[in-house]
This record gives sequence, C-alpha cells and structure tokens, in this order.
Amino acid sequence: MDLDVTPEERRFRDEVRTWLHENAPKEPRPPTEAEARPFDLAWQRAQFDGGWAGVSWPKEYGGRGLSLIQQMIWHEEYAHADAPYIGSCFVGINHAGPTLITRGSDEQKACHLPRILAGEVVWCQGFSEPGAGSDLASLSTRAEIDGDDLVVNGQKIWTSFADVADYQELLVRTNTDGGKHVGITWVIGDMTLPGVEVRPIRTMDGGAEFCEVFYTDVRIPLANVVGEVDDGWSVAMSTLGFERGTAFTARQIAVARSLEKLMTIAKDRPSPSGVGTAFDDDEIAMRLARLRAEVTAMRAMTLAAISRACRSPVPGPEGSMLKIFLADLEVRLRRLGLEILGPDGLVMGTAADWPNAYLRSHASKIGGGTSEIQRNIVGERVLGLPKHR
Ligand SMILES: Cc1cc2nc3c(=O)[nH]c(=O)nc-3n(C[C@H](O)[C@H](O)[C@H](O)COP(=O)(O)OP(=O)(O)OC[C@H]3O[C@@H](n4cnc5c(N)ncnc54)[C@H](O)[C@@H]3O)c2cc1C
Repeated sequence: MDLDVTPEERRFRDEVRTWLHENAPKEPRPPTEAEARPFDLAWQRAQFDGGWAGVSWPKEYGGRGLSLIQQMIWHEEYAHADAPYIGSCFVGINHAGPTLITRGSDEQKACHLPRILAGEVVWCQGFSEPGAGSDLASLSTRAEIDGDDLVVNGQKIWTSFADVADYQELLVRTNTDGGKHVGITWVIGDMTLPGVEVRPIRTMDGGAEFCEVFYTDVRIPLANVVGEVDDGWSVAMSTLGFERGTAFTARQIAVARSLEKLMTIAKDRPSPSGVGTAFDDDEIAMRLARLRAEVTAMRAMTLAAISRACRSPVPGPEGSMLKIFLADLEVRLRRLGLEILGPDGLVMGTAADWPNAYLRSHASKIGGGTSEIQRNIVGERVLGLPKHR
C-alpha cells in the first residue's frame, strides 16, 4: 500500500488549509445546544457557500464528488485548523445524508440532501429505547399503518440534539410476526409533528446533549419510509456503518492534537515526585510515548479502512475496530491529562477544560454502540468467530 498522497491530493490539502485558515470561526462553539444550533448551521452554510460541504458526497446531490482520501484530508485539516465541532449538523452530514444517498427514494434525496448540505436543517437519530440499546433489534416503538400514514406510539432515549432537531432518522416496529430483526422500519420523522414530546436529559458533565422523545399517535406519511416497510434493519445497518466509519476521522485527529497539547502542558507542570517537570518523569514519559505510538497506529488503521472503503460504497465492520481503539485511547489520554494537571484537573472549565473532556471521554465507549458490542462485531464479522447469542 502506498501511503504517500498524490500531487493532486497535496494541492487539495493546500487549498483546504488556506480556506479553513481564512474562514473557520475563531470564536468557540456556544455551550448550550439551543445557542449552538444557529452557530452550527451558519458554519455549515459557510462551508456550503465556499464549495466545501459534502466533500465525498456525489456531485448530483450537491457534494464535491471527491474521494474518501480527500474527505480524510478535509477532516485532518479541519482538526489542525481547530475548526469548531460540527455539533448539531453531525447526524445529517455524517449518517442521515449518506443513508439517504444509498437507500433513499429520488423524492427523499431531492427534498432533504440539499437542505442538509446547505445548513438549513438539523437531524437527530431516534434508534435507542429504554429497553433497546445494544440489542437495538428489540425496539418496541410501534407504528401502525393507517391509510397513507404510519401512526407512531412509544419512546426513544439518548437522542442527541432532539431538542434542536427538525428531522429524525427514526426506527419503528411495524410488524411483530417474524424474528426481531424483521418488521422494523426506517422512517424520516418530522420533529414538529403533533404528538412528539422532547425532554432533555442532564449529563454528568453539566450539559444536556441528549433527550428522551415520546410519541403519542404521531402521524408520519408512508412516503417518508426509507427502503421498504418492515425492511428497516438493513437500512439501519448502513446508517450505523456510516456512523462508525469515516465520520470518526475528525475526532481521531482532534485526539492526536490533544496529545500534542498535553506534551506541552507536561513540560510546564511539576512531576508527581516534585523533581523536574511531569515530562521528565519516567512513568509519565512512558505513558505519553505509548499514546503517541498508538495515535500513529490508529492513523495506519484509518488509512487501511479508508482504502477498503474506497472499494466498497458502504463501510464494513472495520470501523468497529477503530471505534474500540479510539474510545480506549481517548479515556487513557484524558485520564493522564488530569494526573499531569494535578489539583487543577479537578476544577471544571480550567486548563482548556480537561476535566470536562475526561468526563465526556467515557461516552465514547457507549455512543454509537458500546465497546463490548463492537468487540462482538469484530469477533464475528472480522475474525469469523462463532456468533454471540
Ligand atoms: C454521547 C452519547 C450519544 C448518544 N446519542 C444517541 C443518539 O443520538 N441516538 C440514539 O438512538 N442513541 C444514542 N445513544 C445511545 C447509545 O447508542 C446507547 O447508549 C448504546 O447503544 C448502549 O445502549 P444502552 O445504553 O441501552 O446500554 P445496554 O445495551 O443496556 O448495555 C449495558 C451494558 O451491557 C453491555 N452489553 C449489552 N449487551 C451485551 C452483549 N451482547 N455482549 C457484551 N456486553 C453487552 C454493554 O456493553 C454495556 O456495558 C447515545 C449514547 C451516548 C453515550
């Protein structure tokens, strides 16, 4: 495998770097989702106007139609420029959009894709329920067909951005006759419909990123079904593949950059033994070096996954390996950050908010499928081990 970029890709990187340098917002993303929504949408709009929205989306849907390598270069430069987290645009850009491109009808694509790219709408993901997280196929939010509508009753939980979303990628049970993977339907839910109630959940880092969503006789047109009624499981698997796929690149690079910043902090802080700086401490130096080696390994794994993804339109289970690796690395990095900061690491909002980032890092082992579930996927689909029951 040739790890060098081509001259064309190098030129593309220069172009991206210059544009981001001149256009990425310098101010931080606002702390609450309600304040962040207009910020996220305006930044998405600026990327669209600059011709940078949907780098690898097909041109016919308003994207640039470029390669996944160029998409990765975009993510890399994005993180290097310290551009803001895409926040409430995440679901639309990184998985609802790609799912609609591969599985949506022409009408659904024409209606939704341009608005996602242009930063006009926010999407959220209504998959998890109180009794269906890891075992997603156990979901029980019911939808009955009545005329041209699905009538939805039930509850979702942990729905990020639901309180600021316009649309939802919603999984409902339309049939209980077959096995649990049969009879699920993937439908585009309009969050403003009568009968949709959103209640934010406060998390241990003080934020309220996700919500409970309740549905009482919500009427969703059958025209909003993506794929076929009762065949939503295969659509959901593509969505989760995208969620665990290239979308992680930006976070990986942000983690790599945090590690570099931590090295600088370590040179400025006293060592736990009181002799020299934390950077001079053998144990801390060893842990930093190990993290740096792992960041390099992660980049190699990412390149291998992207190379494979270039040959297949839908991401495979390799994204699960990356997700396990990144989540574990992130928790250890944030923990080491708190140790190096000493007592300052106990005060929220200090030292580039390492305390908050430490608390938040644990969520990466859960969101998008827990590390245990990713291990099951790797065992079964990559290593060919017997299926978990
Ligand atoms: C930051 C964040 C954002 C999220 N955003 C969304 C969102 O926008 N939309 C959405 O739908 N959901 C979202 N989620 C929910 C997330 O997908 C679920 O939390 C996750 O799938 C786990 O489900 P659960 O919480 O029900 O845990 P459970 O499934 O109850 O799992 C509990 C524990 O048991 C373990 N476990 C369960 N089954 C197995 C097994 N077969 N083998 C080994 N171990 C097992 C799990 O690993 C876990 O440690 C988000 C979660 C987080 C943390």
